[in-house]
Parts: sequence; C-alpha cells; structure tokens
Amino acid sequence: MSGFVFVCLNQFVKQYLRSHKDVDGDEVRTAVEDALAARRQGVRCACGKPLWVAGSAVAGYGCFTCITGSAEPDGDPEIDAACDGFSFKADDSDVRIAQVIEIIKKHPHDYRERLEEIGLEWQDDEPDLLYDEEAKEEHVAVPETESQRRLVSFLDTGGPVTRQVLDAYLEERYSETSNLPLIRKFFKQANPNLKAILLKGLAADPTDLDLLDDLSYFSEFDNMLGELIHFYTDACLKETDIERFSLLAQDFYMNTYDQGYDALHELVTIFQSGTKSAVVRQLSETIDDYEGAEDIPF
Ligand SMILES: [Zn+2]
Repeated sequence: MSGFVFVCLNQFVKQYLRSHKDVDGDEVRTAVEDALAARRQGVRCACGKPLWVAGSAVAGYGCFTCITGSAEPDGDPEIDAACDGFSFKADDSDVRIAQVIEIIKKHPHDYRERLEEIGLEWQDDEPDLLYDEEAKEEHVAVPETESQRRLVSFLDTGGPVTRQVLDAYLEERYSETSNLPLIRKFFKQANPNLKAILLKGLAADPTDLDLLDDLSYFSEFDNMLGELIHFYTDACLKETDIERFSLLAQDFYMNTYDQGYDALHELVTIFQSGTKSAVVRQLSETIDDYEGAEDIPF
C-alpha cells in the first residue's frame, strides 16, 4: 500500500502514545493542533512543499520527504483535517457519509455503537468542552465595578484611548479578582478598541512583557502576525536589561512559533555580536537540543 493513512486527531494521539509511553498526551495533541493550524495558514516546509502535519507535530515543521528522507509516504499516518465528529478510516468518504446517514436513520437510539461496528470512532473532544465552558462564562459575564464599566463602555463604543481607559485596563489585568471572562470575550472577538488599548500601552512602554503577551493572545483571534513580529523585534532592540531581553526573546519565540515564524533564527541575524547575540545564540542552541531529543517518531 502507498500514500498516507488518514486518521483523526484523537486516533493519532492514541496510536502515538501506544508506542511512546513516556510522552504526555496533551502535549502531543497541542502539537498536532498547532501543526494543523500552521498548515491551514499556509506555512510550508523549507523546501516549499506542504507540511506533513503528523510528522511536523513531533519532529518540527517539515514535509514528509524532509522529515523522513523517503520520497513517498507508504502507510504513514496523516491527520485528517476534515474529520469533525467522526473519523473516516476509508478514503472513499462519499460512500461512507451515505453509510453513516443510513445507519443513523435506521438506528436512531444506538447509532454510535453501529457506527463503531463499521469502523467509525466517536470523538470526545475535550478542548472543545473547555471552549464551551469558557463561552458560557463569557456569555453571562457583566461589568461589576466602576472601572470595569468604564472599560466595557470604551470597548463597545471606541474613541481615543485616554490615560483613564488604559489605567482601567491595567487595573483589571493586575487585579487579583479580575473579571477574566468579561475581558476574554473581547479578546475572542478581536475587538479593535481592545487592540487600540494594547497599542497605546506599548507606545508608552514598548518592552512591557505583559502587554506583549496580551497582544500575542489577541493575535490568536486576529490575523496580525506581521504586526506582532514588529512589536517584539522593536522591544528586543530597545530593551537594555539583559535578563529582560532574554525573557522577551523567549516570549517572542513561543508566541510566534505556532504561526510558522522562527524568532530566534531572526534574532540571531539581527544581533551578530555582543551580549544580546550571546543570549540569543544560547537560547537557540537550547531549543535545538530539545527538538533533536524528540527526533524521528515513526
Ligand atoms: Zn520539505
């Protein structure tokens, strides 16, 4: 047989854990989701071919050939991005869908078992449960303090970001009893007024690690990788404290890597000598060691 065998995320994680007992399932799952997101965003292998999602999750981003050294897959697993609820083992999905509809019609009460009999697996997607739980909290969240009311009113209506608005945001951010679901809702909507607050804060303090972290979280819901890279690069150039620079470089790497950007590689090019250069090189080596340790999975 030749070509990929398409499997669902859950199936892949299960299979992978069977042969790698010391690996954390959640980490594998997250890595696959990241690789899948990268492929959807058009990230490609260094050679120009599309990513092999399953392999990229455990061996670093690359196509099948670059990761394994083999020209063509031969029964190797690949993640079926299309499967949502069911996992199709056969690639003849039209026939399968007809089969599924037929079974659900005939066996409305025990169709799950019947579907399993023909080789389909029901998916329990835990991350979605968490997402639903958060969505419920966000739905009922309302401002409870004067500062929260001021903030939400600004987020709803916009306008110039005054010192008062920025302070209301920072107060909420650092409060021990902050109304997380209330603010998270605006992040998930990629609310432009929220972005304006973050940019205002960064204009005042371009190397603020927390605001950059917030901007990174915001970028998960907005298409703004270029802007995020710009702000982190600027911060790395401006920061004079070397410990804070190291933290910035690490955050920069962690917060853009999932989107297919290799910040450390870029920083090595920017800082070619001096203390910052040494820090970046050391971080880069540490991460290479870490990735080398996982090596080829299959
Ligand atoms: Zn390649």
